Amino acid sequence: MNISNASLYDIAPAFDFVLFGGTGDLAMRKLLPALYQHHYHGLLNENGRVLAVARSELSDEEYFALAETAVRSHVSPDCFSKSGWKDFCLRLRYIRCNVGDVNDYQALAEVLEANKESNRIYYLSTGPLLFAPICQNLAENKLVNRHSRLAVEKPLGRDLVSACEISDIIGSVFSEDQIFRIDHYLGKEPVQNLLALRFGNALFEPLWNRAHVRDVQITVAETLGVEGRGEFYDRTGALRDMVQNHLLQVLCIIAMEVPSHDTPDAVRDEKLKILRSLRPLQGDDINKNTVRGQYRSGAVGNEVVAAYVDEPGVDPRSHNETFVAIRANIDNWRWAGVPFYLRTGKRLQERVSEIVINFERLPHAIFEGESIMDSPNRLTIRLQPEEYIRLSIRAKQPGPGMRLRPVDLDLDLTKSVKERQHNAYERLILDLLGGSQTLFLRRDELEAAWSWVDPILNAWQASHKAPASYTSGTWGPSESSHLLFENGSRWREQE
Ligand code: NAP
Repeated sequence: MNISNASLYDIAPAFDFVLFGGTGDLAMRKLLPALYQHHYHGLLNENGRVLAVARSELSDEEYFALAETAVRSHVSPDCFSKSGWKDFCLRLRYIRCNVGDVNDYQALAEVLEANKESNRIYYLSTGPLLFAPICQNLAENKLVNRHSRLAVEKPLGRDLVSACEISDIIGSVFSEDQIFRIDHYLGKEPVQNLLALRFGNALFEPLWNRAHVRDVQITVAETLGVEGRGEFYDRTGALRDMVQNHLLQVLCIIAMEVPSHDTPDAVRDEKLKILRSLRPLQGDDINKNTVRGQYRSGAVGNEVVAAYVDEPGVDPRSHNETFVAIRANIDNWRWAGVPFYLRTGKRLQERVSEIVINFERLPHAIFEGESIMDSPNRLTIRLQPEEYIRLSIRAKQPGPGMRLRPVDLDLDLTKSVKERQHNAYERLILDLLGGSQTLFLRRDELEAAWSWVDPILNAWQASHKAPASYTSGTWGPSESSHLLFENGSRWREQE
């Protein structure tokens, strides 16, 4: 076991991490690998246990074997060893329980009883319909105490009303300071680096406002389609699945004021102000400022792919959106008049998540061939597949004369740090174990996000209009480019 990183973090106190949905996809691909990595790197308290819960009839050994296969294929080979895994299994248990049945919690209760003083982390990696029965049945079985925390995964509702219902139910059992609402984008290292860049440097903040920023673009583009989740996705769509949570959270981090402290509520108060300053889109504004699209067949890379409506589980007449672009405005002093373009979609040309901040154009050009129409300076924060921060500036082209060309100042976040970086779930799990809520959503933030999104969803539904069709493997419907052309801008890839 490598404990070299241990000194970087306070090892979280003793815990029981109860992983509801312990046999599911998220548990196997993200949560168990993250917990294993922390164990392997010596970041977990030695009195910490991982209790995986699901309905399947499995012995501990059968569960260990399933989990081993998953963890092995989702951690880097240099972090996996037979002995490390065996050691991890000493803290791992499988508990069979039908969580909908209040009388089926006996085995879990007995195991928890043994460690009464440990922090209890209830991680709900199950469908949202089980959130209420799990919370109520935990309470009914007297398994919630002052050391308990609850972590919940998206989707946290499908509109404001259902989000409030979920919050009411979980809030009737856990207090707000025990609830950790996960948006894994906040766990991404470059997103946190954005906070460091803004509030740990004197350079950018003076420029971070309407006087110097021309527009902001946030793109989360996927090349994948619905990948066997057609039925779920057809009920959800890109606006609910990506914009309401991930894209709005990233927007908050870019746009928020400097918090008074680096404390959970100080940060979340500032994010909330941004969500509440988003100009509501209503009536005709929705047509003018939003674009919804749906992919038809095409080619992504070298692969020929089917149309959305031909995907298994999707209604062949579906009007569900697989692409959204929105021009959003933040009505406050800092950002008045600066468009924030949000874009996400499936089956697009490139898999990329990035934030692009275009700074203002030159007021006057003095060099040969220089145009004042383009923004000479751009800050790109790439979240995936690479992780970097890049500042584009203009420099002189070598040789005679004064011709300029764009050059990049690059900070490669993967290569420039020696320490092993945590992925989003690893980071969030450490914060969960340590009890830090900064990177988790508060109830009022969630509700403010839904309040902004709801009118858009309602207007789309009421219009009965089909989304614009786009060929798989492109950048979505051409209407999305028009959103920017109207303001004299282009998406990054069109420059
Ligand atoms: P999944 O693969 O369908 O897993 C569901 C889990 O719940 C399984 O372990 C299942 O095990 C368990 N379960 C279902 N009914 C149960 C019951 N009555 N009692 C006890 N256990 C029960 O789902 P998932 O993809 O892991 O997603 C879990 C949650 O995370 C969902 O809300 C999803 O939207 C969210 N999420 C998933 C991802 C992802 O990448 N997968 C990403 C973000 C958010 P048994 O069948 O053995 O009971």
